[in-house]
Amino acid sequence: MDESIAGSQVLRFCQKGGRGRAYVSYPALTEYGFNGASGFSQFLEAARVTGVPDEIFGSATVSGPLATFNGAHNWVEHPYRKGLALIGDAGGASDPSWGQGLALAIHDAKLLSENLMTDEDWDKAGNAYAVQHDRDFGIIHTFENWMSEVLCDTGPDADKRRERILPMWHQDRSRNPMTIVNGPSKQLDETVRKRFFCED
Ligand SMILES: Cc1cc2nc3c(=O)[nH]c(=O)nc-3n(C[C@H](O)[C@H](O)[C@H](O)COP(=O)(O)OP(=O)(O)OC[C@H]3O[C@@H](n4cnc5c(N)ncnc54)[C@H](O)[C@@H]3O)c2cc1C
Repeated sequence: MDESIAGSQVLRFCQKGGRGRAYVSYPALTEYGFNGASGFSQFLEAARVTGVPDEIFGSATVSGPLATFNGAHNWVEHPYRKGLALIGDAGGASDPSWGQGLALAIHDAKLLSENLMTDEDWDKAGNAYAVQHDRDFGIIHTFENWMSEVLCDTGPDADKRRERILPMWHQDRSRNPMTIVNGPSKQLDETVRKRFFCED
């Protein structure tokens, strides 16, 4: 495989009426950057070299925005100060590849509003929210790093790791404790880590 595209993947979600959403995700060092209608031919070429047969996109045209985003996590430590709380991406943006952003934004709104409704001291409620946010964003951050290590890392060691781990996940789904897109659901301790990486 061409090293520059190792670790790339293409996702296509079909919708009604011959429409769909498509993504090419690729390592940050790859010199792609798909932006605007003029970037579409480069997008198609990147999909093709990643292994997508030509007929999958066929005569597709662009009907919505085409843009490139960095998948790095960005977050604020303790997103509350002096009466101002940050929720959603403003408080912590996770890697969109794992689709947790909307669940996290709603989760933040729920945590903050529950704290505000149960504590008349809103400064205390805001600080409590920030502690919970750091805990839960930390879970997502760790989990997504684990997922990336198993599913996206490249090279012979990464290939061997996948060959060992994926069949074991298939046999026992509880080894992989969180569903992507659902937000934080479980504390990640050493026992969970060992089960995830099938080291137990
Ligand atoms: C390519 C990509 C794919 C993604 N796919 C998924 C997915 O499949 N599932 C998922 O759950 N998440 C996904 N996400 C993440 C998700 O979109 C975000 O986590 C989510 O939109 C965050 O919501 P938010 O309300 O915090 O911020 P935003 O949705 O960014 O909303 C903030 C709003 O504030 C507005 N704004 C900014 N500054 C100002 C200002 N000064 N004055 C007034 N308005 C302002 C912005 O225009 C924007 O409308 C994806 C993200 C990307 C980039």
